[in-house]
Amino acid sequence: MPNQNTQQHKLRQQKLKQAVDARIDAAKQEKGLVLVITGNGKGKTTSGFGMVARAVGHQQQCGVAQFIKGTWDNGEKNLLEQLGVEFHVMATGFTWETQDKNADTLAAQEIWKQCQRMLQDSLLDVVLLDEITYMVTYGYIELEEIVAAIESRPAMQSVIITGRAAHRRLIEIADTVSEVRNVKHAFESGIKARKGIDW
Ligand code: ATP
Ligand code: MG
Repeated sequence: MPNQNTQQHKLRQQKLKQAVDARIDAAKQEKGLVLVITGNGKGKTTSGFGMVARAVGHQQQCGVAQFIKGTWDNGEKNLLEQLGVEFHVMATGFTWETQDKNADTLAAQEIWKQCQRMLQDSLLDVVLLDEITYMVTYGYIELEEIVAAIESRPAMQSVIITGRAAHRRLIEIADTVSEVRNVKHAFESGIKARKGIDW
């Protein structure tokens, strides 16, 4: 019996390999991607930075804009700036606590200018726009301005957008969209955010 199973397994794997190879052959297009990582679970920003780390590991040039991290200590910035990644962090420390809409709008516009420049820079292979979805939700940056900047970027540049509740326009223009679902999170059991894990 084990022999027959081994034989069946081998046949199944061969079929699977043929199907996968055919799909790999069919994928011929080469272009920079738009990726959206959204949803309520943990892992959106870290996924974005995972891709930046991959790109840096291949000697690619990367730019990062972080929209709501403010002045908090930031492990990704500490590491990646040393490796030559261009880094911009929104100035005010915007969080769900801030109440000064004018100051936040100004700060958002300031960092958005840097993003527009990065989205025209053909030397940048990957641009991460971390938590930009909130700027759309709050109306601090025009959605169509973001769409236009992304759509007119250099053909080989990839753009990663992270944040909860990504607007459907952003999902429409994306090539790859993942939604991270919250199954449980330590914070809900009263556990403090941890250095190295949460920031
Ligand atoms: P990470 O930066 O760890 O990848 P994220 O980008 O998916 O998380 P955000 O919504 O940006 O999540 O929130 C950032 C912070 O909030 C992180 O410290 C993260 O651990 C925490 N967090 C993420 N999801 C949840 C959740 N469902 N409940 C409570 N805290 C969360
Ligand atoms: Mg995040």
